[in-house]
Amino acid sequence: MKKLSFTLLLVLLCISAFAQDYSDRITLVIHGGAGTITRANMSPEREKAYREGLNLALQKGYEVLEKGGTSVQAVEAAIRVMEDSPLFNAGKGAVFTNEGKNELDAAIMEGKTLKAGAVAGVTTIKNPISAAIAVMDKSAHVMMAGKGAEQFAKEKGLEIVDPSYFYTEARYKALQRAKEQEKTELDHNTGQEKEGKARTEEKEIKKAPKTGYRHFDGLIFTEGKKFGTVGCVALDKYGNLAAGTSTGGMTNKRYGRIGDAPIIGAGTYANNATCAVSATGHGEYFIRSVVGYDISALMEYKGMSLTDAANEVVMKKLVERGGEGGVIAVDRNGNIAMPFNSEGMYRGFVKADGNREILIYKD
Ligand code: ASP
Repeated sequence: MKKLSFTLLLVLLCISAFAQDYSDRITLVIHGGAGTITRANMSPEREKAYREGLNLALQKGYEVLEKGGTSVQAVEAAIRVMEDSPLFNAGKGAVFTNEGKNELDAAIMEGKTLKAGAVAGVTTIKNPISAAIAVMDKSAHVMMAGKGAEQFAKEKGLEIVDPSYFYTEARYKALQRAKEQEKTELDHNTGQEKEGKARTEEKEIKKAPKTGYRHFDGLIFTEGKKFGTVGCVALDKYGNLAAGTSTGGMTNKRYGRIGDAPIIGAGTYANNATCAVSATGHGEYFIRSVVGYDISALMEYKGMSLTDAANEVVMKKLVERGGEGGVIAVDRNGNIAMPFNSEGMYRGFVKADGNREILIYKD
């Protein structure tokens, strides 16, 4: 009998040691895109609308954590708010492709299991983040694209909408302006080529501030260098991290182009041993720099802090390579980092100690 109660005590001790409570560290961080976001080009009404949108996303996500929900559930709740808002380039309000369509990408990753799910190039799924979670939880795969992903989402009971649901006038006008600008630039460049001048990507990027359009390999890619992707990273009371990202990509992108958001390790990554990361910016650079995983790897292999690792990648490596944008990140102790190398980034966080902030600009 004595032996039995001793064993029982030992088991209970072990369970409580493993089931460490992280309630005092729960944290939620969001972003609503980075880019040329300055006080000078922002009206008070617009700023108010963005703050309200971010505030609601923070509130909905954090409520989940407070009630004992998981980090994946909190990330989904926060991102769905931003997907449903026309202000952000995700879900309703997504940017247009060159063909005049809205093609959406999203991903989720769970730090405890390293399980991940993603959808790419979907046009009828109302909330792509939920479809990414369904891929993670209800399929044997990590990423599904196009029609197949849409069929899967339908079978799993997710809300399907007509592609016209994603239309917003502001984004459609942005595409028209980008195309107009592209036409002008291409006419102009034909002359340059005759003179035998090489057009390097570097030169194209340098021209961008003048026009407000992003030039890339001779294409006018996105207007005003505003990357309105949304993302969320969270730490729950069980000590588990999660990261999620959802986007319409970049204005005027070519058919079938997939950005960094649904690429695990690039725009989205989570690992309980290191951190959870969600990115926003010029996807091609973020894919080539494997941004999310690089931040995690610097922590894992070099023992860097979250702040140092995120700064190293966003403020040094990406800057050297010409990759504009930023990330949000959280580690298992509830430390957060939100570096960006653009003019601004819509961002906000809530922590268990009551610390809560919504920020937009650099200063
Ligand atoms: N990273 C996204 C992409 O390249 C764009 C964004 O952040 O707004 O698709």
